Amino acid sequence: RLADPDAVLAGLDDEQRAAVLAPRGPVCILAGAGTGKTRAITHRIAHGVLTQATAPNHVLAVTFTARAAGEMRGRLRALGVAGVQARTFHAAALRQLRYFAPRVFEGRAMPELLETKARVVGQAAAREQVKLDRTGVRDLTSEIEWAKSALVEPDGYVTAAAEASRETPLPPDQVAVVFAGYERLKRRMGVIDFEDLLRATVWAIEDHRDVADQIRAQYRHFVVDEYQDVNPLQQRLLEAWCGGRDDLTVVGDASQTIYSFTGASAQYLIDFPRRHRGAVVIRLERDYRSTPQVVGLANDVIAAGRGVEASVRLQLVGQRAPGPKPRVSHYPDEPAEAAAVAARCKELLASGVSAAEIAVLFRTNAQSETYEQALADVGVPYVVRGGERFFERPEVREAMMLLRGATRAAEADAADGIGTTTVDAVIGALSGLDWRPDKPPAGGAARERWEALSALLRLAEETVAADPAAADAAVGMPRFVDELAARASAQHVPTVEGVTLGSLHAAKGLEWDAVFLVGLAEGTLPISFAKTPAQLEEERRLLYVGVTRARVHLWLSWAAARSPGGRGSRRPCRFLPAVSLPAGVPGTAVAPASKSAGRSTARSLPTCRICGVALFDPTHRKLRRCSNCPADYDEELFERLRTWRGALAKEQKLPPYVVFTD
Ligand code: ATP
Ligand code: MG
Repeated sequence: RLADPDAVLAGLDDEQRAAVLAPRGPVCILAGAGTGKTRAITHRIAHGVLTQATAPNHVLAVTFTARAAGEMRGRLRALGVAGVQARTFHAAALRQLRYFAPRVFEGRAMPELLETKARVVGQAAAREQVKLDRTGVRDLTSEIEWAKSALVEPDGYVTAAAEASRETPLPPDQVAVVFAGYERLKRRMGVIDFEDLLRATVWAIEDHRDVADQIRAQYRHFVVDEYQDVNPLQQRLLEAWCGGRDDLTVVGDASQTIYSFTGASAQYLIDFPRRHRGAVVIRLERDYRSTPQVVGLANDVIAAGRGVEASVRLQLVGQRAPGPKPRVSHYPDEPAEAAAVAARCKELLASGVSAAEIAVLFRTNAQSETYEQALADVGVPYVVRGGERFFERPEVREAMMLLRGATRAAEADAADGIGTTTVDAVIGALSGLDWRPDKPPAGGAARERWEALSALLRLAEETVAADPAAADAAVGMPRFVDELAARASAQHVPTVEGVTLGSLHAAKGLEWDAVFLVGLAEGTLPISFAKTPAQLEEERRLLYVGVTRARVHLWLSWAAARSPGGRGSRRPCRFLPAVSLPAGVPGTAVAPASKSAGRSTARSLPTCRICGVALFDPTHRKLRRCSNCPADYDEELFERLRTWRGALAKEQKLPPYVVFTD
């Protein structure tokens, strides 16, 4: 029995309804965080299906994390709609490529997916006699990722890097040499990386008429969530899918662009109405997610932003009942900060908030450890989300290897079920693990291993639940291993009940009742290697993404030193708006009476040589830098910032706050 299409329209505001009812064709929803963009598109899909204007299997909805795709499927299911493909770009490509593999790879099997690029990049560098340390390999790996996402080939790299003013980790000609070596090495190993997966799908469609025809007959309505983070390679894939047809709905928030380091650009979103004639453009301003207090802070964080998104930004208007004020706390060191967060989590749990409704979000995955420890110390369950860390854990890598082995074994013995024998075998094979589902180890490493494995088990169960045929290992195992690989790439970790620990990047599109944004100190956020104005703007947007994840409770914190007894010389994140900082802390920003008053004061005061914020200190008029900026800066950086600030000053767009110097 079909659900009522009118019920799908209930619970939407006028603009969202307009998005749902817009005729088939290009639709673009440009709106801020929490305004119901994802809601509007899921309801648009559901309405199309329930009115029988659209067949569910003709819809392809794509987004960027497996969790977001899962959430979309969940929302569709709740609206009574089944059979819509809602996937990440990678998962959609993998599925199509696997189907067309015999055709595309000329009878050969589909190559295996390479999960850890960095190792192969390191090997390629060594072969080319390029010496690199770990950070060097990491930077070079991201640079190669950027190039591939920007559709740049090794021989075009030097020119492209110059055109894009890339800050290259090595001289550009050396990057090109290692890049070429990496491509050769992969070919020799018979593996493809995640960018190759998308590229191969693009070429499959572009070069094979029959593949294109089949794909275009299958999918006729396209939806992209978080479109602000699309990169040129994904855009090319989207165009290959559409094949000149225009039944495409995109939604995004340019202020949430946080993947420009991989070549993503909000420009595709901003230019959409220009590229698609007759596109219906809808703007949403009402924020349904967060309290007005959280919304106010979000507006303040992003108001001074000067990225590409500034021209399309709308002020969010909070719709929810008032809640507690966001709190900013500072601590002498990181363990003290983590202990306070853990204690607060415990209080929240005691007051009836469920662990799944709490998140601790940080800038880098390396910060996770301290919080895992602090939560374990007070006995609060947690789950680490955010990819890398989870999939880099030795036990998870080991399990994946064993699963791969089991896949081959299962081909020989199709009776082996994925839910039972295999996972048992995996667990049994992992030495030193006392695995009892009803009795988790108390804490520490054993607990981590236990959680990682129970998460894997749950994933296996999800795979079977999604398609009972997967219970047959011959069918299920390859699918499960693919799913793991796709999730590893999408930085997605399966769910278990617990406080979420995750990176800001992995938190996009999600929401929790209580959110802790931790480590908000200069050097961590903004991260020390963010130097150019564009990179700093991306850091600001990351903070904005973090703030807008909270429904009700929001705690922001930073620590003056890394470890107890350390030199407490850190400063709070420069993007924290003045109004939310505690009084009396060195480096505290002071709230102006009103924003416009702040602006006019700011213009008459001396400004920081580095970031240009107005300095307000009646006694030390000669100070040249604000307390948020590092004492050491290089002249080149300074020159760039000065030029940038100069342009802002001309437009009279100085930030609405002033800072005390210490
Ligand atoms: P983000 O930019 O973070 O991805 P979004 O714009 O996609 O946010 P949603 O996740 O769709 O926002 O919605 C945010 C929250 O507000 C959700 O909990 C959603 O159910 C709720 N919501 C959206 N629209 C309405 C509405 N018209 N009435 C009540 N609640 C709504
Ligand atoms: Mg969303």
